[in-house]
Amino acid sequence: MAEEQNEEKFKKLTRREVLAGTGGFVAGVAVGSGGVSLLLPPKEVEVIKEVKVPVEVIKEVPVEVIKEVEVIKEVGAVKEVEINRFACPYCDGTFSTLGALRVHVDSEHQPTPTSARESEGRPTYVNKVDKPTYDDFIVGTVEQFDQKNEVFCRSLWDEEYKKRRAAAPVIEVDKLVMLDGNALYAGAIYVDDKAGSDAPNYSGFQGHQTGFGGLYDWEEPVGTQKFPVSDPVEMSEKIKKVAKFYGADLVGICELDQRWVYSNYFDRATGNFGELDIPYKYAIVLVVEMDWEGIETSPGYEASAATALGYSNMAEVASKLARYIRSLGYPAIPSGNDTAQSIPLAIDAGLGELGRLGLLITPEFGPRVRLCKVLTDLPLKPDKPIEFRIQRFCESCVLCAKSCPVGAIKFGDRTTEPTSFSNRTGILRWPVDVVKCHIFWKTNLTSCSNCIAACPWSDMGNSGRGKV
Ligand code: SF4
Ligand code: SF4
Repeated sequence: MAEEQNEEKFKKLTRREVLAGTGGFVAGVAVGSGGVSLLLPPKEVEVIKEVKVPVEVIKEVPVEVIKEVEVIKEVGAVKEVEINRFACPYCDGTFSTLGALRVHVDSEHQPTPTSARESEGRPTYVNKVDKPTYDDFIVGTVEQFDQKNEVFCRSLWDEEYKKRRAAAPVIEVDKLVMLDGNALYAGAIYVDDKAGSDAPNYSGFQGHQTGFGGLYDWEEPVGTQKFPVSDPVEMSEKIKKVAKFYGADLVGICELDQRWVYSNYFDRATGNFGELDIPYKYAIVLVVEMDWEGIETSPGYEASAATALGYSNMAEVASKLARYIRSLGYPAIPSGNDTAQSIPLAIDAGLGELGRLGLLITPEFGPRVRLCKVLTDLPLKPDKPIEFRIQRFCESCVLCAKSCPVGAIKFGDRTTEPTSFSNRTGILRWPVDVVKCHIFWKTNLTSCSNCIAACPWSDMGNSGRGKV
């Protein structure tokens, strides 16, 4: 009887169906501590031929959620049905592609007078605003987040979560396909994985590793001669140019809001944790684009490798910029996923908005990015936040939620209800069930970026291809 109920509750999907999107917040974060061997199933793990996905996830999504509009067009004698999924944020218009929506917005809706427009080389629909768009959704006290509660850290100390994850089955994969995929990943993560340190269990994307040195080292000496900064605006422009020279794809500057700094750090390599005191005034937030052709293969190995390469590039660009600033005689901390939450900082720094999938959506690359930052006291001029109607867009588009194999992304309205203590409280949002997500990665034997691949903003033409 229990088995029957189980069968009712689950539908078996082959890997191919999952790959086809029947079916990543955590999305696209490199699995484990970067050690490829961690991806291989230990002996006691159940190996399955299919991924089991709760029926409620794959049942037909209610049309009122998707807000698709059927348009019948007559082309000669032929009637064509067009599905319009993209709703204009300014009027009732609906469009079948993001490109058609863009053309409509540009021709029918004038930008606001404060538009950032082309002066800074950003797309024409981007507007500068006085406060970040998450501000309207803050409905309670926003407290500093303890890094220990982040899902990757939980897999080291949270016994209940560890048990749940250990019990998750894994899919069956051709051994040579897995060997080749893991080799691609190993090369891509190499810089991040070592990040200049030979310490055991070092994994660069966690950033600060007490006493481990490496590219994310905090202890590097600051130059004794201070470069005089008479004009912070000029210095900010210079910093952006230098960051791009070192490999950043987008750069923004904000004052460091202490709400986004972790209350405590947690070192996954050693299990050490402690209070975090970051006295610096500014965050220089750096965006690194992830390869579209790789991400598009999610949940396959190439997508994981594209993510891993993003991590290696983060480690390089953040550490180079920090060295530059230190050499100018100012303190600078290069930071990956450690120290502070990169997404709200990136929003403050005018780089994008928070999307339904729980990630930053940039106008240029959508959520197909990795973020890192340099924290410093170098005199700078912060950027203004931006808006490009993502809040309204995500209210009618649920493509990321549809693409998630385990239902970790919420359909419907924003909520303050967390899915677990790994979610922040006090903000109305679409909380991502990072536990379900991270467990799926174990099942999938590599990470997942389905939600990033599904988001129409991910393929915005920088790749020269695109859905638009
Ligand atoms: S499991 Fe879901 S939330 Fe996690 S990365 Fe994949 S699609 Fe995104
Ligand atoms: S797919 Fe992208 S645009 Fe659509 S709801 Fe998700 S985050 Fe928003």
